[in-house]
Amino acid sequence: MNTRFALGAPISATMSKAMQQATCSCGFSVTSENRNEVVKVIQHHAHDEHGKEMTRDDVLAMMKQA
Ligand SMILES: [Zn+2]
Repeated sequence: MNTRFALGAPISATMSKAMQQATCSCGFSVTSENRNEVVKVIQHHAHDEHGKEMTRDDVLAMMKQA
């Protein structure tokens, strides 16, 4: 019996293998297969570099498959 399940496997691995990419208006670009990661990095970047708050929807709107 296989009792290992998916312990330790990243949740994102089961979601999508496509790479997601978002590019800021300043040229800063993030590429990850985990779109939550892209959202997080872009939000952090926008806040730190531009003093701008971006919602998850804002980031998803600028995201595309890479
Ligand atoms: Zn930027």
